[in-house]
Amino acid sequence: MIGFSPLNPGVEGKSMSKRRFLLGISATVLLAATVTATLAKPLRLAAPQILGLSCLERTCVEDAEDLQRAQDLVRAAVREVEVLTGQTVPPLTLVLCSTSECYKSFGGDRERAISFPWLGAVISGPDWQDYIIRHELIHWLQFDRYGAVETMSHPTWFREGMAYALSGAPDWDIPEHYQPMISRYRGWQEQRNLDGLWTTQPEF
Ligand SMILES: [Zn+2]
Repeated sequence: MIGFSPLNPGVEGKSMSKRRFLLGISATVLLAATVTATLAKPLRLAAPQILGLSCLERTCVEDAEDLQRAQDLVRAAVREVEVLTGQTVPPLTLVLCSTSECYKSFGGDRERAISFPWLGAVISGPDWQDYIIRHELIHWLQFDRYGAVETMSHPTWFREGMAYALSGAPDWDIPEHYQPMISRYRGWQEQRNLDGLWTTQPEF
């Protein structure tokens, strides 16, 4: 899972170290229970309608009155990311929550958006910034083109630097500690032919 966490730097690192700690516990039963609990919420992305959300195509909201606006935002974001990258964004589910209860029920925490490989993403509300949606779509492309496991093994400066740089997030909404990652990604990208960016595993 990869989140957009401008207001909460370090959230991803915290969850990664927690996961490492849990993986170090040898009791299989405990590990199985932990994995099940961790996966249960994101798995709800597979059928948001059953949970009372209103969905159109693969865009879902809590209040049906927001559905058209949400779908317009998502369609525009998909179009922009596809034009920019030359890649087709995979057809996953995007839940745009208005309340924190909704966001947390799909596995969100203190970040503002989070993507789960093969399932989709949840965006927190009440505002849905277009650049946050694009940020998550870039993560979808990373998972799809490089593989979920491979993506998570890439350095954070590459994964997040790319998502921030290509999504066009405004400087004022990017926490300071991501700025060097974005610069590093931009420097890395400048040395490369963009045609090959998505077809081969990146080398660092
Ligand atoms: Zn991200």
